[in-house]
Amino acid sequence: MTHADESGTTASAVVRPTMISMKSVQKHFGALHVLRDIDLEVPTGQVVMVLGPSGSGKSTLCRTINRLEPIDSGTITIDGKELPAEGRALAALRADVGMVFQSFNLFAHKTILENVMLAPMKVRKKNKADAKAKALELLDRVGIANQADKYPAQLSGGQQQRVAIARALAMNPKVMLFDEPTSALDPEMVNEVLDVMVGLAKEGMTMLVVTHEMGFARKAADRIIFMADGVVVEDSTPDSFFTAPKSDRAKDFLSKIL
Ligand code: ADP
Ligand code: MG
Repeated sequence: MTHADESGTTASAVVRPTMISMKSVQKHFGALHVLRDIDLEVPTGQVVMVLGPSGSGKSTLCRTINRLEPIDSGTITIDGKELPAEGRALAALRADVGMVFQSFNLFAHKTILENVMLAPMKVRKKNKADAKAKALELLDRVGIANQADKYPAQLSGGQQQRVAIARALAMNPKVMLFDEPTSALDPEMVNEVLDVMVGLAKEGMTMLVVTHEMGFARKAADRIIFMADGVVVEDSTPDSFFTAPKSDRAKDFLSKIL
Protein backbone atom coordinates (compact mmCIF):
# COMPACT_ATOMS: atom_id res chain seq x y z
CA MET A 1 0.00 0.00 0.00
CA THR A 2 1.27 3.43 -0.83
CA HIS A 3 0.49 6.15 1.61
CA ALA A 4 1.96 9.54 2.24
CA ASP A 5 4.29 9.29 5.18
CA GLU A 6 3.34 10.43 8.65
CA SER A 7 5.51 13.48 8.59
CA GLY A 8 3.81 15.15 5.66
CA THR A 9 5.03 16.24 2.29
CA THR A 10 8.50 17.59 2.48
CA ALA A 11 10.24 14.90 4.51
CA SER A 12 9.14 12.10 2.23
CA ALA A 13 12.01 10.19 0.68
CA VAL A 14 9.79 8.75 -2.03
CA VAL A 15 8.86 11.07 -4.87
CA ARG A 16 5.28 10.46 -5.86
CA PRO A 17 3.82 11.73 -9.10
CA THR A 18 1.53 14.73 -8.84
CA MET A 19 -2.15 13.80 -8.83
CA ILE A 20 -3.82 17.21 -8.53
CA SER A 21 -2.10 20.27 -9.91
CA MET A 22 -3.50 23.80 -9.79
CA LYS A 23 -1.43 26.56 -11.33
CA SER A 24 -2.24 30.28 -11.05
CA VAL A 25 -5.94 29.54 -10.75
CA GLN A 26 -8.20 32.58 -10.67
CA LYS A 27 -11.92 32.58 -10.12
CA HIS A 28 -14.41 35.41 -9.78
CA PHE A 29 -18.10 35.43 -9.07
CA GLY A 30 -18.93 38.79 -10.61
CA ALA A 31 -16.83 41.35 -8.76
CA LEU A 32 -15.97 38.87 -6.01
CA HIS A 33 -12.47 37.42 -6.37
CA VAL A 34 -13.02 33.97 -4.84
CA LEU A 35 -9.82 32.14 -5.77
CA ARG A 36 -6.75 34.34 -5.94
CA ASP A 37 -3.90 32.83 -7.83
CA ILE A 38 -4.08 29.37 -6.32
CA ASP A 39 -1.04 27.12 -6.75
CA LEU A 40 -1.45 23.66 -5.30
CA GLU A 41 0.31 20.40 -6.06
CA VAL A 42 -1.01 17.26 -4.41
CA PRO A 43 1.12 14.13 -4.80
CA THR A 44 -0.52 10.76 -5.32
CA GLY A 45 -1.71 9.24 -2.07
CA GLN A 46 -1.62 12.45 -0.06
CA VAL A 47 -4.48 13.43 2.24
CA VAL A 48 -4.94 17.19 2.20
CA MET A 49 -7.40 18.83 4.54
CA VAL A 50 -8.62 22.29 3.65
CA LEU A 51 -9.54 24.51 6.58
CA GLY A 52 -10.68 28.08 6.77
CA PRO A 53 -13.50 30.41 7.71
CA SER A 54 -16.83 30.34 5.94
CA GLY A 55 -16.71 32.14 2.60
CA SER A 56 -12.96 31.69 2.14
CA GLY A 57 -13.37 29.74 -1.11
CA LYS A 58 -12.99 26.14 0.08
CA SER A 59 -16.05 24.78 -1.71
CA THR A 60 -15.21 26.71 -4.85
CA LEU A 61 -11.70 25.25 -4.78
CA CYS A 62 -13.17 21.74 -4.64
CA ARG A 63 -15.69 22.44 -7.35
CA THR A 64 -13.13 23.84 -9.77
CA ILE A 65 -11.06 20.67 -9.49
CA ASN A 66 -13.69 18.64 -11.32
CA ARG A 67 -15.03 21.59 -13.31
CA LEU A 68 -18.35 21.84 -11.58
CA GLU A 69 -17.21 25.44 -11.55
CA PRO A 70 -15.26 26.90 -14.49
CA ILE A 71 -12.14 28.93 -13.76
CA ASP A 72 -11.24 32.32 -15.22
CA SER A 73 -7.59 31.52 -15.84
CA GLY A 74 -4.83 29.17 -14.82
CA THR A 75 -4.64 25.40 -15.26
CA ILE A 76 -5.87 22.39 -13.33
CA THR A 77 -4.68 18.89 -14.12
CA ILE A 78 -5.61 15.52 -12.69
CA ASP A 79 -2.95 12.85 -13.07
CA GLY A 80 -1.26 15.03 -15.66
CA LYS A 81 -4.35 15.65 -17.76
CA GLU A 82 -6.17 18.94 -18.05
CA LEU A 83 -9.92 18.68 -17.63
CA PRO A 84 -11.60 19.11 -21.00
CA ALA A 85 -14.11 21.93 -21.20
CA GLU A 86 -17.16 19.82 -21.90
CA GLY A 87 -18.73 16.76 -23.42
CA ARG A 88 -17.91 13.09 -23.23
CA ALA A 89 -14.24 13.63 -22.46
CA LEU A 90 -15.17 15.75 -19.47
CA ALA A 91 -17.59 13.10 -18.18
CA ALA A 92 -14.87 10.47 -18.36
CA LEU A 93 -12.23 12.57 -16.70
CA ARG A 94 -14.64 13.89 -14.12
CA ALA A 95 -15.33 10.29 -13.22
CA ASP A 96 -11.69 10.10 -12.09
CA VAL A 97 -12.54 12.65 -9.43
CA GLY A 98 -15.05 11.38 -6.91
CA MET A 99 -16.89 14.02 -4.96
CA VAL A 100 -18.87 13.83 -1.75
CA PHE A 101 -20.86 16.84 -0.59
CA GLN A 102 -22.44 17.94 2.62
CA SER A 103 -25.82 16.95 1.22
CA PHE A 104 -25.75 13.34 0.14
CA ASN A 105 -27.53 13.86 -3.20
CA LEU A 106 -28.64 10.25 -3.53
CA PHE A 107 -31.36 9.42 -6.04
CA ALA A 108 -34.44 9.21 -3.84
CA HIS A 109 -36.37 6.83 -6.09
CA LYS A 110 -33.59 4.32 -6.50
CA THR A 111 -32.43 1.76 -3.99
CA ILE A 112 -29.07 2.04 -2.27
CA LEU A 113 -27.70 -0.67 -4.56
CA GLU A 114 -29.05 1.07 -7.69
CA ASN A 115 -27.58 4.36 -6.53
CA VAL A 116 -24.13 2.79 -6.45
CA MET A 117 -24.55 0.81 -9.71
CA LEU A 118 -25.87 3.61 -11.88
CA ALA A 119 -22.85 5.70 -12.86
CA PRO A 120 -20.49 2.76 -13.51
CA MET A 121 -23.04 1.36 -15.96
CA LYS A 122 -23.74 4.69 -17.66
CA VAL A 123 -20.33 6.32 -17.71
CA ARG A 124 -17.93 3.37 -17.42
CA LYS A 125 -20.18 1.08 -19.52
CA LYS A 126 -19.97 -1.72 -16.98
CA ASN A 127 -22.39 -4.58 -17.40
CA LYS A 128 -25.07 -5.04 -14.78
CA ALA A 129 -23.57 -8.09 -13.09
CA ASP A 130 -20.15 -6.49 -12.71
CA ALA A 131 -21.67 -3.22 -11.51
CA LYS A 132 -23.73 -5.08 -8.95
CA ALA A 133 -20.81 -7.14 -7.65
CA LYS A 134 -18.67 -4.05 -7.29
CA ALA A 135 -21.49 -2.10 -5.63
CA LEU A 136 -22.09 -4.83 -3.07
CA GLU A 137 -18.39 -5.02 -2.33
CA LEU A 138 -18.27 -1.26 -1.75
CA LEU A 139 -21.42 -1.22 0.38
CA ASP A 140 -19.82 -3.93 2.47
CA ARG A 141 -16.69 -1.87 2.78
CA VAL A 142 -18.62 1.14 4.11
CA GLY A 143 -20.57 -1.16 6.42
CA ILE A 144 -24.05 -1.09 4.90
CA ALA A 145 -24.32 -4.09 2.59
CA ASN A 146 -27.40 -5.17 4.56
CA GLN A 147 -29.22 -1.97 3.50
CA ALA A 148 -28.71 -2.51 -0.23
CA ASP A 149 -32.38 -2.88 -1.11
CA LYS A 150 -33.64 0.05 0.93
CA TYR A 151 -34.31 3.56 -0.33
CA PRO A 152 -32.24 6.55 0.82
CA ALA A 153 -35.00 7.97 3.03
CA GLN A 154 -35.01 4.73 5.04
CA LEU A 155 -31.39 5.26 6.08
CA SER A 156 -29.86 7.57 8.66
CA GLY A 157 -27.81 10.55 7.52
CA GLY A 158 -24.58 8.78 8.39
CA GLN A 159 -25.61 5.73 6.40
CA GLN A 160 -26.64 7.87 3.43
CA GLN A 161 -23.32 9.64 3.46
CA ARG A 162 -21.53 6.28 3.47
CA VAL A 163 -23.61 5.29 0.44
CA ALA A 164 -22.53 8.54 -1.23
CA ILE A 165 -18.91 7.58 -0.59
CA ALA A 166 -19.49 4.08 -1.98
CA ARG A 167 -21.16 5.60 -5.02
CA ALA A 168 -18.18 7.83 -5.69
CA LEU A 169 -15.76 4.93 -5.20
CA ALA A 170 -17.71 2.79 -7.66
CA MET A 171 -16.19 4.84 -10.48
CA ASN A 172 -12.68 3.87 -9.41
CA PRO A 173 -11.69 7.49 -8.95
CA LYS A 174 -8.07 8.54 -8.79
CA VAL A 175 -8.95 11.34 -6.41
CA MET A 176 -11.66 11.84 -3.82
CA LEU A 177 -12.90 15.31 -2.92
CA PHE A 178 -14.97 15.78 0.21
CA ASP A 179 -16.71 19.07 0.93
CA GLU A 180 -17.76 19.11 4.59
CA PRO A 181 -19.08 15.56 4.40
CA THR A 182 -20.14 15.49 8.04
CA SER A 183 -21.52 19.00 8.50
CA ALA A 184 -25.13 17.99 7.94
CA LEU A 185 -24.97 14.98 10.24
CA ASP A 186 -26.16 14.53 13.78
CA PRO A 187 -23.11 14.38 16.06
CA GLU A 188 -23.46 10.68 16.81
CA MET A 189 -23.13 9.88 13.10
CA VAL A 190 -20.04 11.88 12.36
CA ASN A 191 -17.53 9.24 13.37
CA GLU A 192 -18.96 6.44 11.25
CA VAL A 193 -18.34 8.62 8.18
CA LEU A 194 -14.92 9.84 9.32
CA ASP A 195 -13.90 6.22 9.95
CA VAL A 196 -14.66 5.31 6.35
CA MET A 197 -12.53 8.26 5.21
CA VAL A 198 -9.65 7.24 7.47
CA GLY A 199 -9.83 3.76 5.95
CA LEU A 200 -9.65 5.21 2.44
CA ALA A 201 -6.70 7.36 3.38
CA LYS A 202 -4.87 4.34 4.77
CA GLU A 203 -5.42 2.51 1.50
CA GLY A 204 -3.58 5.27 -0.31
CA MET A 205 -6.39 7.27 -1.88
CA THR A 206 -5.46 10.81 -2.86
CA MET A 207 -7.92 12.97 -0.94
CA LEU A 208 -8.77 16.63 -0.59
CA VAL A 209 -11.10 17.17 2.32
CA VAL A 210 -12.81 20.38 3.41
CA THR A 211 -13.71 19.90 7.04
CA HIS A 212 -14.48 21.60 10.31
CA GLU A 213 -13.63 18.45 12.26
CA MET A 214 -10.36 19.62 13.74
CA GLY A 215 -9.58 16.43 15.68
CA PHE A 216 -10.02 14.43 12.50
CA ALA A 217 -7.90 16.86 10.48
CA ARG A 218 -5.10 16.71 12.95
CA LYS A 219 -5.15 12.93 13.11
CA ALA A 220 -5.82 11.94 9.52
CA ALA A 221 -4.28 14.68 7.37
CA ASP A 222 -0.86 14.51 5.78
CA ARG A 223 -1.08 18.19 5.04
CA ILE A 224 -3.20 21.16 6.05
CA ILE A 225 -4.13 23.96 3.69
CA PHE A 226 -5.56 26.98 5.46
CA MET A 227 -7.53 29.37 3.25
CA ALA A 228 -8.80 32.87 3.89
CA ASP A 229 -10.32 35.28 1.37
CA GLY A 230 -9.49 33.06 -1.59
CA VAL A 231 -5.82 32.72 -0.73
CA VAL A 232 -3.87 29.75 0.59
CA VAL A 233 -2.53 31.41 3.71
CA GLU A 234 -0.80 28.37 5.24
CA ASP A 235 0.35 25.08 3.83
CA SER A 236 1.86 22.86 6.49
CA THR A 237 1.79 19.63 8.44
CA PRO A 238 -1.06 19.13 10.92
CA ASP A 239 1.29 19.33 13.88
CA SER A 240 2.81 22.63 12.88
CA PHE A 241 -0.54 24.09 11.86
CA PHE A 242 -2.29 23.21 15.10
CA THR A 243 0.58 23.88 17.49
CA ALA A 244 2.30 26.79 15.76
CA PRO A 245 0.12 28.55 13.17
CA LYS A 246 2.13 31.30 11.52
CA SER A 247 -0.46 33.77 10.29
CA ASP A 248 -2.76 35.96 12.34
CA ARG A 249 -5.68 34.66 10.26
CA ALA A 250 -4.95 31.06 11.24
CA LYS A 251 -4.36 31.98 14.89
CA ASP A 252 -7.65 33.81 14.95
CA PHE A 253 -9.45 30.90 13.23
CA LEU A 254 -8.05 28.34 15.65
CA SER A 255 -8.80 30.47 18.70
CA LYS A 256 -12.46 30.52 17.68
CA ILE A 257 -12.79 26.89 16.75
CA LEU A 258 -10.68 24.99 19.30
P1 ADP B 1 -16.46 28.28 1.67
O1 ADP B 1 -16.75 26.93 1.13
O2 ADP B 1 -15.05 28.46 2.15
O3 ADP B 1 -17.45 28.71 2.72
P2 ADP B 1 -17.30 29.21 -0.95
O4 ADP B 1 -16.29 28.67 -1.93
O5 ADP B 1 -18.59 28.49 -0.85
O6 ADP B 1 -16.60 29.35 0.48
O7 ADP B 1 -17.62 30.71 -1.29
C1 ADP B 1 -16.63 31.70 -1.45
C2 ADP B 1 -17.30 33.01 -1.77
O8 ADP B 1 -17.91 32.92 -3.04
C3 ADP B 1 -18.39 33.38 -0.78
O9 ADP B 1 -18.37 34.77 -0.60
C4 ADP B 1 -19.66 32.97 -1.49
O10 ADP B 1 -20.75 33.73 -1.09
C5 ADP B 1 -19.30 33.19 -2.94
N1 ADP B 1 -19.97 32.27 -3.86
C6 ADP B 1 -19.91 30.91 -3.82
N2 ADP B 1 -20.60 30.38 -4.84
C7 ADP B 1 -21.14 31.41 -5.52
C8 ADP B 1 -21.97 31.51 -6.71
N3 ADP B 1 -22.36 30.41 -7.36
N4 ADP B 1 -22.31 32.74 -7.11
C9 ADP B 1 -21.89 33.85 -6.47
N5 ADP B 1 -21.10 33.82 -5.37
C10 ADP B 1 -20.72 32.63 -4.91
MG1 MG C 1 -18.15 25.53 1.66
